Amino acid sequence: MPTIQGKMQSQNRDIIIIGGGLIGLTQALALAMHGISSHVIDRADPEAMMAAGFDGRTSAISSTSYAMFQAIGLDKTLEGKGCPIAQIWVSDQLKPGALDFVPEEDDGFLGQMFENRLLRQSLYGAAKAHQLISLHMPVDIAEKHRSDAGVAVTLSSGSTLQGQLLVAAEGRRSITREEAGIRTVSWQYDHSAIVGAIFHERPHNNVAYEIFYETGPFAVLPMLDLDGRHRSAIVWSQAREDAPAYLKLSDRAFCAELEKAMGGSLGRVEMAAPLSTYPLGFHHAAQITDKRLVLVGDSAHGIHPIAGQGLNLGLRDVAALTEVLVDGARLGLEPGDAQLLERYARWRSVDTLAVAMATDTLNRIYSVPGKTASAVRRFGMNLIQSAPPVKDFFMAEARGESGDLPKLLKGLPV
Ligand SMILES: Cc1cc2nc3c(=O)[nH]c(=O)nc-3n(C[C@H](O)[C@H](O)[C@H](O)COP(=O)(O)OP(=O)(O)OC[C@H]3O[C@@H](n4cnc5c(N)ncnc54)[C@H](O)[C@@H]3O)c2cc1C
Repeated sequence: MPTIQGKMQSQNRDIIIIGGGLIGLTQALALAMHGISSHVIDRADPEAMMAAGFDGRTSAISSTSYAMFQAIGLDKTLEGKGCPIAQIWVSDQLKPGALDFVPEEDDGFLGQMFENRLLRQSLYGAAKAHQLISLHMPVDIAEKHRSDAGVAVTLSSGSTLQGQLLVAAEGRRSITREEAGIRTVSWQYDHSAIVGAIFHERPHNNVAYEIFYETGPFAVLPMLDLDGRHRSAIVWSQAREDAPAYLKLSDRAFCAELEKAMGGSLGRVEMAAPLSTYPLGFHHAAQITDKRLVLVGDSAHGIHPIAGQGLNLGLRDVAALTEVLVDGARLGLEPGDAQLLERYARWRSVDTLAVAMATDTLNRIYSVPGKTASAVRRFGMNLIQSAPPVKDFFMAEARGESGDLPKLLKGLPV
């Protein structure tokens, strides 16, 4: 299989990014926009990664993450392709006392739903066209080396790439993280997420539904209509041992289960895409930097998809690392400078841990079985429903607006 090799002859670039997933490609583009060059290496075949069926997920992209996509030049390929989320409706097992988050009229949407495949195509196309980015995929890595002088990665093809900093964007099972001896705290949830897309009879009106069952959360997320048919994405958590049985159901039987779980709110349902399952787990790296190495995205942290924040959290890493490296370059510091990595680690550690713990706690609270637990939860939801400042806080979180935001997330260049 032919490998896409760098556009420039030079094997020397500022940064070497391992992993060309959504995070690795965004990182390369954000750096390139500020004149910082990179190699991006991935062992997967890009054609396969962009084929229908490779990743059937749809991601909730917060307003701030979208502002960064616009700032790095993806607006032309993404404009109009996301489905706005105008309201989030949260319910405990469809019992009375639901919570709804509706922004004020001029506050804009809470986010947009994008098919991962579209995001990948847009990022890959932009990275491939950029002079400051060399893509190497699919290719395996034979050797990696980090020293005081710089970093080097030898590919299985025999060529050696050089740079000043290694960025691990390898996803959950980051080999580079392990090789660096960075420990992770991790655990598995007893759940698998069943992911897919459905057509439904009634319009979703841009509402994202989050219904908590004792078996786990069930999200129905608005997508753009297709061929005049109303469409939503589903992320349905089921006990790990039950998930395979759901996948074996006929489409008709599965849709009947879905209609029941949704309380019939969207009317008759039909499958719009094949189903897939993802085992759900949590991991958090004890440190996100080492000598001439940084971790971004799922290499650094992985959370429960309950609040649709995993990718957004990784995009915040990208924005913060870009700002740190660009500021450093202006001061004459090279990208592997220990002070810069320290600033990145300080900036990201608090935010990632806070979001990770909040999503884990939310998941645990809603997994407690029994009527009493449900009554307590609904009492709490009632309190939030009648307290606008608390609701505003949660909506700011959904939009990704809280905390010390890097400039790119405000849509500004660094
Ligand atoms: C069911 C589910 C629903 C989700 N929904 C949302 C949502 O709505 N919103 C949201 O924000 N997040 C969501 N997430 C989380 C989100 O999908 C992840 O956080 C995100 O995809 C992580 O991207 P990444 O680029 O860090 O890692 P990955 O997508 O795992 O990419 C890693 C890349 O690195 C490559 N690679 C790995 N190791 C090597 C190596 N040694 N050499 C070369 N290449 C390598 C891989 O081939 C891959 O291309 C969801 C997650 C799940 C499971």
